[in-house]
Amino acid sequence: MLLTIEDYIKAGKIAAEVREYARKQYYVGHTLLEICESLESMIRAKGGEPAFPCNLSLNEIAAHYTAEPDDITEVKDGDILKIDIGVHVNGCIADTAVTVCYNADYSLLVEACEHALREALKVAKVGVRASDIGRVIENTVKSYGLKPIQNLSGHSIQQYTIHAGKSIPNIWTIGSFTLQENEVYAIEPFVTTADGDGIVYNGDISNIFSIVTRKRVGNKEVDEFLEALWNRFKTLPFALRWIVKDLNFEINHARSMLEVLIKKKIVRAYPILVEGNNKFVAQAEHTIIAKSGGSIIITQ
Ligand code: MN
Ligand code: MN
Repeated sequence: MLLTIEDYIKAGKIAAEVREYARKQYYVGHTLLEICESLESMIRAKGGEPAFPCNLSLNEIAAHYTAEPDDITEVKDGDILKIDIGVHVNGCIADTAVTVCYNADYSLLVEACEHALREALKVAKVGVRASDIGRVIENTVKSYGLKPIQNLSGHSIQQYTIHAGKSIPNIWTIGSFTLQENEVYAIEPFVTTADGDGIVYNGDISNIFSIVTRKRVGNKEVDEFLEALWNRFKTLPFALRWIVKDLNFEINHARSMLEVLIKKKIVRAYPILVEGNNKFVAQAEHTIIAKSGGSIIITQ
């Protein structure tokens, strides 16, 4: 147990350093591909592994966009960019996010989101109900006249499992659980404007994937492809970029084999999540280890 906690602390420290580096950059004019690759290589240089592809979600995209292998999307003046970073050390995952804002009209959105996270962290300890954390987030966001995204939530984390089954809501909800000693949780408010829908929907792009099952399809090439994915990523999410760059598959070939595996439900695709009224969304996130006296914020 002691060893595992040390790995969480190490993963958290790396994630926090990379997030703070990203927060200070002026990314206007840079491509999402460039930013993803630089942050992921920084994670590796510090002795961690990315726990999932760096998520770079612009404006009304709340989450789950990562750069394609040939992505030419650039950050523009007027954008707001959610940078969501996952680091693992021996499968112990730290999950953290920041919103960088190149549009003065949305600085309050970012401020409200960070404030909601700070208030949530103050109450997040053993024995507290997840719904009460949701209430704190909701009330803080609403005090700014803004809206929390109600169908996005924080989550419990287990070794090699980023979403381990329990949700920490961003609004007050009926039915809940209490935080358990030494359990790891990510808390992540998402905030949109007063005229936003407050709900996200699946967009028509998916560029993050994970293996659901190692069932063989009976095609040698595809089965070997799945085996290569399993050996490298196990249950953790991955991007086409990584298959091309780290596993040396040709892009179109990899894409078509992925499609076969998705169709057979052997691999799942995570669609991008888009604000219902196409309004801008901010996000902030920390990972904690729950303790009774006050939790350890590993990504502080
Ligand atoms: Mn995250
Ligand atoms: Mn998360």
